[in-house]
Amino acid sequence: MSRELERISAEARICTKCDLHKERKTAVPGEGPADARVMFIGEGPGAQEDLTGRPFVGSAGKLLTELLASIGLDRSSVFITNIVKCRPPNNRPPRKTEIETCASLYLQPQIRLINPKIIVPLGTPAIKTLMGDDYSATSVHGKVFRKEGRFFLPLYHPAAALYDVRLKDTMFEDVKMLKELLDGREVVAQPIS
Ligand code: SF4
Repeated sequence: MSRELERISAEARICTKCDLHKERKTAVPGEGPADARVMFIGEGPGAQEDLTGRPFVGSAGKLLTELLASIGLDRSSVFITNIVKCRPPNNRPPRKTEIETCASLYLQPQIRLINPKIIVPLGTPAIKTLMGDDYSATSVHGKVFRKEGRFFLPLYHPAAALYDVRLKDTMFEDVKMLKELLDGREVVAQPIS
């Protein structure tokens, strides 16, 4: 990670800017190369992530690693983070004010610094945060969008697919589009309205 990304991570670890700091054990700023071509962005840390300070290390993380491997990607080659860096109590969805505060302080600067070619929002809260309230995982998963020179490939959240075989199959199908994008193939990309 670059020095600037390290600074963002260090600030997030001691951040008290929203109520989520009250019950977190460890903030989870995210990890990956400073020049990653792809950023995966989920909803928020879960119990395992809160304990370890690392993103996507629980069973949803295992599935994410499998999805990446299915298209020949190692998870160390992508940047993985969340729209909020602290675990919401009892895994409740993060509130709009928490998302807005956290994303403007940490996620948006991370995106600016890393400048990825492709952003993969995982699950509806991340999709809405990054693409707008008109979008949801059900309506746009696996479709490619384009905004300000960057591709967006929204997917279901791996946690949703853990116990749903059909959703899991859909995710393995959808992630193939990431390979197409990384290989520079021509794909139909819709503008984000
Ligand atoms: S969720 Fe984000 S804004 Fe809220 S305390 Fe944690 S790092 Fe700070």
